[in-house]
Amino acid sequence: MNIHEYQAKELLRKYGVAVPRGSVAFTPEEAENAARELGGPIWVVKSQIHAGGRGAGRFTDDPDGDGGVRLCKTLDDVKENARKMLGHTLVTKQTGAVGKEVKRLYIEEGCDIKRELYLGMLIDRATSRVTIMASTEGGMEIEEVAEATPEKILKVAIDPVEGFMPYHGRKLAFGLGLEGKQVSSAVKFMATMYKAFMDLDASIVEINPLVVTGEGDIIALDAKMNFDDNALFRHKDVAGMRDEDEEDAKELEAARHELNYISLDGEIGCMVNGAGLAMATMDIIKLYGSEPANFLDVGGGATKERVTVAFKIILSDPNVKGILVNIFGGIMRCDVIAEGVVAAAREVSLSVPLVVRLEGTNVELGKKIMAESGLPIISGDDLADAAEKVVKAVKEAA
Ligand code: ADP
Ligand code: MG
Repeated sequence: MNIHEYQAKELLRKYGVAVPRGSVAFTPEEAENAARELGGPIWVVKSQIHAGGRGAGRFTDDPDGDGGVRLCKTLDDVKENARKMLGHTLVTKQTGAVGKEVKRLYIEEGCDIKRELYLGMLIDRATSRVTIMASTEGGMEIEEVAEATPEKILKVAIDPVEGFMPYHGRKLAFGLGLEGKQVSSAVKFMATMYKAFMDLDASIVEINPLVVTGEGDIIALDAKMNFDDNALFRHKDVAGMRDEDEEDAKELEAARHELNYISLDGEIGCMVNGAGLAMATMDIIKLYGSEPANFLDVGGGATKERVTVAFKIILSDPNVKGILVNIFGGIMRCDVIAEGVVAAAREVSLSVPLVVRLEGTNVELGKKIMAESGLPIISGDDLADAAEKVVKAVKEAA
């Protein structure tokens, strides 16, 4: 789960991580009041959306105007810019062309920036450790730095038993060219950030930029946090920060029905039982020259109700040009699944080709039910046959 910058800063602040003062605002009036409370003389008005690159982004109704992060010098300026951002759509490198509507702002005190650095922590699958990454190339996307100048990314893997030690921090601080009191300030910053990361079951914390101020302090100007969904039950405060406006409507609907669904960019909607089979189905769609529109594991009980909801979610995606159902009837019998698929297909009045591959108990009976349904269901004999058929059907329909 993702949260907004202001929420991440609120959490980090509780752990003693250095962040500027600021507060959230939902209206231009709240923005002005927040700025007055902060005191000035300089404020930064920051669009809160679940995407980075806001500073360099542009609003759809003002393509030549300023981005989603604006420096303001008067209270009127704060209010005016808040008005120009709230309710308007911001497009950044990470939002895609449609952009995201800004519904919240963060009003923050202006910071005297001497250097912009990068600091990130993440669960590194290669080392099974939390890895801390640091770079002198602050403000840039770390993926771009990794591509162009990988030598500029410093990495330290933390042994989970030992935990974060001051020497880890000093190694990174010296690597970043910090000196004098900046070093101890950076070490303290990293130690508190690591504590927050571990305590809150985060999967990513990214501070970009991490700033060295004119005073020589180290402070987080931006903060992104990502959490392990499976651990949210033990962090009610974090779970409460969920902003459904920022999430994929189809994924939310799927979660309500306990379907494991992830939206993707392709054109073949997939409905599968079991995560491993779902992965294999996506692979084979690609092998036959198309792209999956989603990952969907309907779980063990592929009942009529679940299959119907799943069909509806898949069909609500305008990119879907064909559907591949690939279900193994082990605990569930194939005839029961076939009845579910037929009933669901009738209910949603299918508008795209549907290929169904069933395997397992009572498979012949299942195929017979589909064949006799009168619906244009294409039957696949095995995984390869079904994938080939759906890709072909989509090409022919185009
Ligand atoms: P994004 O990464 O989405 O563009 P950031 O929070 O990183 O958003 O802000 C973009 C840039 O705006 C930063 O690199 C920094 O230069 C500037 N900035 C952000 N917050 C402040 C602040 N409180 N004071 C001064 N400058 C800021
Ligand atoms: Mg940033």
